[in-house]
Amino acid sequence: MPSSKGYAALNAQSPLAPFSFTRREPGPTEIAVEILYCGVCHSDLHMARNEWGQSMYPLVPGHEIVGRVLSAGSAVKRFKAGEIAAIGVIVDSCRKCAPCRHGEEHFCKEGATLTYANVDRVDGSITMGGYANNYVVDERFAHTVPANLDLAAVAPLLCAGITTYSPLRHWKVGPGKKVGIVGLGGLGHMALKFAHSFGAHVVQFTTNLRKREDALRLGADEVVLSSDPEAMKAHANSFEFILDCVSAPHPVDDYLALLKQDATLCLVGLPDKSPSFSVFNLIGRRAAIAGSMIGGMPETQEMLDYCGAHNIVSDVEVIRMDQVNEAFERMLKQDVKYRFVIDMSTLG
Ligand code: NAP
Ligand code: ZN
Ligand code: ZN
Repeated sequence: MPSSKGYAALNAQSPLAPFSFTRREPGPTEIAVEILYCGVCHSDLHMARNEWGQSMYPLVPGHEIVGRVLSAGSAVKRFKAGEIAAIGVIVDSCRKCAPCRHGEEHFCKEGATLTYANVDRVDGSITMGGYANNYVVDERFAHTVPANLDLAAVAPLLCAGITTYSPLRHWKVGPGKKVGIVGLGGLGHMALKFAHSFGAHVVQFTTNLRKREDALRLGADEVVLSSDPEAMKAHANSFEFILDCVSAPHPVDDYLALLKQDATLCLVGLPDKSPSFSVFNLIGRRAAIAGSMIGGMPETQEMLDYCGAHNIVSDVEVIRMDQVNEAFERMLKQDVKYRFVIDMSTLG
């Protein structure tokens, strides 16, 4: 593989800056990909700034990758040079444990290899993510992209898409179910699109009523300002399922109070401080708090194919590579509709 270039954080305090590095040579079952687009996930910001305490530097973020195959190893079956491939949050796993054998690589007993800031199983190097010109990955961890979809708008499906599709499927969201989505950001807007597409009655919760028209356009049946106690109370004890996509600490009890008996609040947002909640809100309705993390390889492909069949993509603002630091700041101010995507041809 020729040398790679991208943008990296050198420590938790510095802005991302141009950075050169090398990737290992692709093996027989691997593809080398020229990255065309990479989405900007809030996890990239959490990681660049070491908000979860597990970052390794230099850190090249990016796990919502769409690119063109530069070369395919001799044993690669699903891709040829010149074709489009997509890469998400996981780039390897043990491939032997029960979850891996069942296509749930995200629950790999040995721990999946993440796209960046993780130890590469093959050569022990630190993985470098998709804010870069290329990537090397085993074809088992790459996905095909439906030809009818816009490639920039596909990129966020690789994390925001699967992270919301998977729990909505697991908890069988569909017709006759009342479902809440908390937070209208990158994950939230995909959750809204999927829940609507699956036929549920969808209520979008937001801290910002200026997003109301967008939420209705994206598929919400109702929009609720979460800081309005009366508006919240009107939905007490009425939800089968609520998916919480919020990136910062916020009162989880407010949503537990809205669950029906035997209903579930599933957290996918990962604030640096975990929420506290009243057990009374659970026992009084036998409710559950759950969590969910991205999805396995087969379900990620299923999600992409579903998006192709139903014409679902992310609402994106395409930016230049050198705008990424500004994009992080704007994401923190909720000033993005609804996902930044880096056009990698601007890397220079
Ligand atoms: P994002 O685009 O920044 O969206 C977060 C949304 O949360 C905002 O749009 C906002 O919605 C709401 N919010 C922000 N600050 C808030 C506050 N102080 N109080 C209440 N609501 C607030 O982020 P994202 O990329 O969607 O990621 C969301 C979270 O999911 C991040 O923590 C990320 O690390 C995590 N994540 C988890 C997984 C997983 O596998 N579980 C995968 C990817 C990402 P409103 O303006 O509508 O209120
Ligand atoms: Zn992500
Ligand atoms: Zn495994």
